[in-house]
Amino acid sequence: MSITFDSLALSEPIQKALRDRDYTTPSPIQEKTIPYVLEGSDVMGCAQTGTGKTAAFALPILEHLSKNQARRTPKSPRVLVIAPTRELAIQIHESFLSYGKHLHFRSEVIFGGVGQNPQVRAIQKGPEILVATPGRLLDLIGQGHIRLNLLEVFVIDEADRMLDMGFIHDVRKVIRELPDRRQSLFFSATMPDSIIELAGSILRDPEHVEVTPPATTVEKIDQRLCHVASSDKRALLTDLIAERGDGLSLVFTGMKHVANRIAEHLTKSGIPAAAIHGNKSQSARVRALEEFRSGKIKVLVATDIAARGIDVKGIDLVINYDLPNEPDSYVHRIGRTARAGAEGRAISLCDEKSQGMLRDIEKTIRMQIPLDTDHNYHRDPQPGDRDEKQGGRGGNRGGGRGRGRGGNGGGNNRPRGGNSRGSGGGGGSRNRNSRNRNRSRRTSSAT
Ligand code: AMP
Repeated sequence: MSITFDSLALSEPIQKALRDRDYTTPSPIQEKTIPYVLEGSDVMGCAQTGTGKTAAFALPILEHLSKNQARRTPKSPRVLVIAPTRELAIQIHESFLSYGKHLHFRSEVIFGGVGQNPQVRAIQKGPEILVATPGRLLDLIGQGHIRLNLLEVFVIDEADRMLDMGFIHDVRKVIRELPDRRQSLFFSATMPDSIIELAGSILRDPEHVEVTPPATTVEKIDQRLCHVASSDKRALLTDLIAERGDGLSLVFTGMKHVANRIAEHLTKSGIPAAAIHGNKSQSARVRALEEFRSGKIKVLVATDIAARGIDVKGIDLVINYDLPNEPDSYVHRIGRTARAGAEGRAISLCDEKSQGMLRDIEKTIRMQIPLDTDHNYHRDPQPGDRDEKQGGRGGNRGGGRGRGRGGNGGGNNRPRGGNSRGSGGGGGSRNRNSRNRNRSRRTSSAT
């Protein structure tokens, strides 16, 4: 039987905040992590966004602060959380504010790309909790605006993404600034060797906590794969978006300019969409996210980095317009849907240059993504397809894998049938689809 928050040693103001948010049952990562953090242990947690890991560290940290009251000291936080992106940093900061709303601690958030003066003024007020992206944190430490001498708890969130984004040197510099005596909590969605090594340089005798490895997390999501020529991708995307439900859709692209172009194209086609990526100003990103969150715009087109940590309820469709180079990003991306037990769909477009990426992703998630040929632009992978990821090697992944419709054996190959195609598809599209299906079978049996 699952435990309730009441049975975790959290004081009434925190319990009240949880009740305000209608949380009754801790998620598995919370159930496992909170007791360790409360007893003062270091923790190495393997969990993705969407599992409730923010509360897994924020709740016991707030409990620690409230049990160990200390005078506020300008510039010297007692808790430091570093996160790879401003969006994630803001979300963590907001979580501290929300979970700690019946307590009296200050939390501040700092990140680059905006003027530093308001942040410096905020730190001057002596927040107990500081959430930061590594670059701005180092800037302000370098200028003497932040001191870590009174730090008690250090948290690194989404460490794998931090490394993917090239922040390793900044992270190491931050670590050098930390006092020896501290509690450290380390969270990462994946645990490649580089992450284990980094964790080893931060943690002391850590407790290991792991929840739902990526393969089982993604199983909850109704995943589809569409083979399509790169020249048809935009048209297919437009169809998929036009026939989506009422919920919010998040579209991932590999490049910023593609994100812009798609958002413009969708908007011109009568589907208001916004793009967020690293070249957009902070205010434009915040505005786009707010409009998305509120449902004013229902389609957000994003690059991986900008979308990192987006926690928006109601995303029921994720589309990978471009497959990610990093298989783990696939897991992160589709994890934006089906949050907190909700239903979610993820549709990935695979063009002639992305066969190698697909192969890597399927290896990582330990399943074949069910194939969807029931669309107007199906293209079977060809032996001559270039495999961009593999540096131009032939990328045909046929290999006798029997990927015709219904052939994945995964049990969740729900035929989309006519429901989502809409009646406007007409006979032409059906014929084309059945032709495609035949072609698909031929390819499967021939290879
Ligand atoms: P996170 O993994 O921290 O980004 O959290 C994912 C989502 O789950 C957020 O929307 C949280 O507000 C929500 N959440 C976290 N813990 C719980 C809980 N115990 N019960 C219900 N929702 C939760």
